Amino acid sequence: MQNKFKASVQNTIQTLKLQGDFLSLSRTQPSLFITSFQFFIDEHTQVDVLAQGMISFEPLADSDKDVVLSCGVHGNETAPIEICDDLVKDILTGKIVVKQRVLFLFGNLPSMDIGQRFVEENMNRLFSGEHQNLAAGQQVNDERRRAKQLENAVKCFYLGTESQQDRSRFHYDLHTAIRASKNDKFAVYPFQNGKPWDKYQLQILLACGVNTILLSGSPTTTFSYYSVNEFNAQAFTVELGKVMPFGQNNMDNFTQIVTTLTQLICGVELVLKNFDDADFLIYEVNQVINKQQADFALNFAIDAPNFSDFQKDHLLASETGCEYHAQFEGEAIVFPNADVEIGQRALLTVIPTHI
Ligand SMILES: [Zn+2]
Repeated sequence: MQNKFKASVQNTIQTLKLQGDFLSLSRTQPSLFITSFQFFIDEHTQVDVLAQGMISFEPLADSDKDVVLSCGVHGNETAPIEICDDLVKDILTGKIVVKQRVLFLFGNLPSMDIGQRFVEENMNRLFSGEHQNLAAGQQVNDERRRAKQLENAVKCFYLGTESQQDRSRFHYDLHTAIRASKNDKFAVYPFQNGKPWDKYQLQILLACGVNTILLSGSPTTTFSYYSVNEFNAQAFTVELGKVMPFGQNNMDNFTQIVTTLTQLICGVELVLKNFDDADFLIYEVNQVINKQQADFALNFAIDAPNFSDFQKDHLLASETGCEYHAQFEGEAIVFPNADVEIGQRALLTVIPTHI
């Protein structure tokens, strides 16, 4: 029995090296990934297959960066999944060679299968331990189990080097938005617990084609804030445009981010433009509007792009007993969604700022 199992691991390793199909094997043959296993690509890279949808690469030579690339925390956000799938394939088949440690996480595999944002619950509200905060009568579901498993993978990865000093930690949690955005790509810069915003990180984002930055003003239960808060990583939730079905993304839209991430993990020096405030649209959160009543309604076009802005006093949303107005000239809307559960965030408003 054990020999049979060993043989099947050897087969999986051969397939991975030949075809690089880690994601598709993870989705179609989960039984191959019940236990973790390790192998090497030539004499330069150690590969750790941690679980279904979780794989890390470590150069055998010295490195100084630990890079986490996560995608599919929302299963229908296909472009980032395809970007990471391609990178993993290129590494496994030897097309590119990593010079930095990198962990790829494909977040919510069951929701990819059904082409939905999630199966039972929005996974990007379950990090920093929120997965274990159950409401009365609520059961642990697959999304909560997976959020915990993802947290553990990040923790083991960041803490899994002999010396953690003088290393830089990165985490790009890649998404696409439900709606179009006035600024096609944007990043949420998680709350820094009082530390200053890092302009060098924004220069990297600009090289990725991301010039719109939303500064988060408080702790959240997102994946990127988990890495900031627990591991002092430079972490971002990066929104790469609008959700499209698998295979329908125009991958030309992602050349800049693919190139920059490849350079980052392959140890190629990044060529970055000097920081110039004028290159960026930087926003801070003004209002976090949670849905309180079943009749919560948004008062703008259903397809209004993210970052659409309004005049002061414009009625943005209403529900029984409450009206929500723009408090500033040019106040803009982000992530509107009237269909969330009662108590959850239905709208963020943001105002321009500088760092
Ligand atoms: Zn998302």
